[in-house]
Amino acid sequence: MFDKASYETVLSNIDPERQELYSLCESQGVAITVMKPYGGGALLSAEASPFGAAMSVAQCLHYCLTRPGVATVLAGAVNKEELMEAVAYCDAGDAERDYAKLLSSCPAHPFTDKCMYCGHCAPCTAGIDIASVNKFADLCEAQHMVPETVREHYNVLSVKAGACVKCGQCETRCPFGVKIVEHMQKAVDIFGE
Ligand code: SF4
Ligand code: SF4
Repeated sequence: MFDKASYETVLSNIDPERQELYSLCESQGVAITVMKPYGGGALLSAEASPFGAAMSVAQCLHYCLTRPGVATVLAGAVNKEELMEAVAYCDAGDAERDYAKLLSSCPAHPFTDKCMYCGHCAPCTAGIDIASVNKFADLCEAQHMVPETVREHYNVLSVKAGACVKCGQCETRCPFGVKIVEHMQKAVDIFGE
């Protein structure tokens, strides 16, 4: 996983096989627990991280918790200070948790046109929850089908992707260059609305 080539192919968003597993878990109602959210400490160090930039504890935890199907994270700690640093995530604000700015500008790995579900594109002119729409569409793409639970999650969204008026406002706010208008259309093709 820490080989540079591996990161370049699998971390453009999520390894396709892993994405398929996440989607299967979501469709079966199986919650995912993430281990090693700091990559054994490497993600906290600019020298050791494959991204060439250091993430904070809160950023690592938030990234894990915003992946599809993930319910909880097992954060390792070797002393009380590290444990309290992880616990502080619960009271951290949006700015402390935000991993988008760092990942969109990290020197060693370009994340472009891949939704990271960070929510920076909000607010949508039409009221669409763009991050959730993208997450549900990605789960379906990974399984080459529309799992019933994913459809149920999509159905409870108050505004569907079909409400997109193509104003392009969201795209000016996305740090990862996601072609959101195209992604909304893809979601309409998948879910029918
Ligand atoms: S479209 Fe861009 S800004 Fe919106 S959730 Fe995805 S990565 Fe974040
Ligand atoms: S382009 Fe579509 S998804 Fe983006 S802000 Fe406008 S209406 Fe919302």
